[in-house]
Amino acid sequence: MPDYLSRSPVDDAEEDPDETTHLISKSTQTDIANINNYSFIIAAVETRAMKLRNKTLNDISDTTKLTSDSLNTPIEENRTTPFSIEELIQAQQNDNYAKNILNNIKKYKNYMIKDNLLMRRLNHPVSYVPQGDLRRTILQIYHDTAANGAHFGRDKTIHKIKQRYFWPSMYKDINNYIKSCITCAQYNPRRKKAPGKLRPIKPPEGVWQLVAMDFHGPINPTSRRGNKYIICLTDILSKFVVTKAVRDNTAQTAVKFLKDDVISKFGTPRCILTDNGTHFTSTIMNELIKQIGSTHLYSTPYHLQSNGQVERYNSTMDAKIAALSNIQKTDWDDQLPFVTFNYNTSIHSSTKQIPFEMMYGRAPILPFDYQGDNVTIQYDNEHVKKPNQFLTKLNEQAKINIIKNQ
Ligand SMILES: [Zn+2]
Repeated sequence: MPDYLSRSPVDDAEEDPDETTHLISKSTQTDIANINNYSFIIAAVETRAMKLRNKTLNDISDTTKLTSDSLNTPIEENRTTPFSIEELIQAQQNDNYAKNILNNIKKYKNYMIKDNLLMRRLNHPVSYVPQGDLRRTILQIYHDTAANGAHFGRDKTIHKIKQRYFWPSMYKDINNYIKSCITCAQYNPRRKKAPGKLRPIKPPEGVWQLVAMDFHGPINPTSRRGNKYIICLTDILSKFVVTKAVRDNTAQTAVKFLKDDVISKFGTPRCILTDNGTHFTSTIMNELIKQIGSTHLYSTPYHLQSNGQVERYNSTMDAKIAALSNIQKTDWDDQLPFVTFNYNTSIHSSTKQIPFEMMYGRAPILPFDYQGDNVTIQYDNEHVKKPNQFLTKLNEQAKINIIKNQ
């Protein structure tokens, strides 16, 4: 795959592309129904620079392997199947690098053999992946598929793969793979720093202490099921996100979301931060918040920070959702749960933690993780024995990292 993107270099070693997209959409002050405020899942994504780039992409797309998986119809996606342990062992036997280590295992302290499988000794050992198709399959699974990758960026993809597999050039390979992903190139706006710094605020003391809630949309096109908006709630410390595709942006919808999808599943947040749109200031909303004993905060003094957080999330999501949706983009609401799950199970650039872990106190299990002992994520005994210590540590580290990143 020619590295055609190198003409417009996008790399900044410390920056995850997912976290710095600001161009696609706006979160709304939806009390004013403003037609210019439309958030486009497809069309508005394109900047002039991207248009140019897409032209190039279209010219070459028929010559690349990516055509099959970048079209992303659900059927094609399901064809990306993982391999069996037997296939992995077999492939190792045919790989010169692995053969050499297997034959001289005593010399290679970094490796071990478990049930005929060559593994890299790490905190918990992971399988060595031989050169060839299996590496590509892994890249496809953890970047292209909706459930495991959802076209998230380099850092998130690396983090997922290295918890499961090892090969010597994996960082470089992942980086190249993502740089040459046509779907990403088409849907992710170029990386760009946010204008100005967000006003620093002290991070909340714990998970579910401060959450921000927001409507996103109206989204164009309306989905086949008639959904027009995404309502989303972000925990400010863990960055854990709850989303739902909804038909309107009324107070009733916001209240129903809070009851059905937030409080009854995750418990009551201590403070709920919203903008002061009518759907959030209405009597029915106030009633609910009084009933549950939460505090309702409006935009200020958290305004910049909170909007930044929620909006960052939304713009990231739009690109992923668009990349995974059908050609007419009318099934974007089908993709939303997977994209949200991926966001929650990926390492976050500001906290350097995985939101899911901070929320649930255990590592997320991704759809292909059940493949037998050798490639299942091992749990650390400390964590099982002392979940509270584990979570306190995550919280502390997240707070430190949030402050560092402000
Ligand atoms: Zn991609």
